[in-house]
Amino acid sequence: MHLARFPRHFLAHLPTPLERLDRLSAELGGPEIWIKRDDCTGLSTGGNKTRKLEFLMAEAEAQGADMVMTQGATQSNHARQTAAFAAKLGMGCHLLLEDRTGSDNASYNTNGNVLLDHLHGATTEKRPGGGDMNAEMEAVADRFRAEGRRVYTIPGGGSNPTGALGYVNCAFEMLGQFNDRGLRVDHIVHATGSAGTQAGLITGLKAMNAGIPLLGIGVRAPRARQEENVYTLACATAEKLGCPGVVARADVVANTDYVGEGYGIPTQGGLEAIAMFAELEAILLDPVYSAKGAAGLIDLIRKGHFRKGERVVFLHTGGAAALFGYDSAFDFAGRRTR
Ligand SMILES: *Cc1c(COP(=O)(O)O)cnc(C)c1O
Repeated sequence: MHLARFPRHFLAHLPTPLERLDRLSAELGGPEIWIKRDDCTGLSTGGNKTRKLEFLMAEAEAQGADMVMTQGATQSNHARQTAAFAAKLGMGCHLLLEDRTGSDNASYNTNGNVLLDHLHGATTEKRPGGGDMNAEMEAVADRFRAEGRRVYTIPGGGSNPTGALGYVNCAFEMLGQFNDRGLRVDHIVHATGSAGTQAGLITGLKAMNAGIPLLGIGVRAPRARQEENVYTLACATAEKLGCPGVVARADVVANTDYVGEGYGIPTQGGLEAIAMFAELEAILLDPVYSAKGAAGLIDLIRKGHFRKGERVVFLHTGGAAALFGYDSAFDFAGRRTR
């Protein structure tokens, strides 16, 4: 697979570390748990969108864009990484932020990723929840175009075949790390949302015939829709890579039992996962994505789905900046030191 054929603006800190989680593994008493640290991609507190943006922003540059636009939820990590990448390239950045949670909490609306969006010089516009955000964005982009700006629009989550190349690249990187360290890996688990991460990973894994099952833990859509979104994007990504048909429908597996009340609304399992990772491994998860992914991992270990003697890699997709928008979800009153 020859990724160097595609324009790419190298900016992420790669390869990200692959680490064994001894204390978490011991606490759960099941498989050996490893973590792939894509929370450490380096750009403005890191996260998975940086890998996608390496390819998307290179395409924007190649097309002569002087500004980029994207859209996401209020506390979108994708919007923040896009704002940061645009700052680095000297491009303008305008963000459409969708109010998916209806929260009027001050931290949620102004701190965390929203603060960072503005620090990187991006302008933002809000939209109520439930609309067609990609259509809204194209309408606003036309407004800028009418003013003479050369706008490159990026779909929500950076999830199109160009963005998914970033996770084809991650699949190659991980398999190289497993091989170099003699690690036989039985499962890879991660949080799945706009589908680009899972679509890129499964395309890369299948193109290499890695033989490692991939499980996405959903954060928004029901299972059938999530798997369909991932599969459709994986097929388009494989086509772009020149290996059409490498991904079968059965290769795409999502478990959406850990969404809870809805996108961006913290769950008990997610808050427990945040506490376990922070207290046992000094790793920060976020309540919207990585904590729900980790809640799925933890629950599936407790239910015996992942077993002793197996080795599971959890791909940490980042998001900890959102913690500062969610401080009201935590209650430390009355806690005692260990
Ligand atoms: C966007 C995001 C995800 C989901 O990745 P997709 O490619 O959108 O499926 C997971 N974790 C974090 C922290 C994210 O920001």
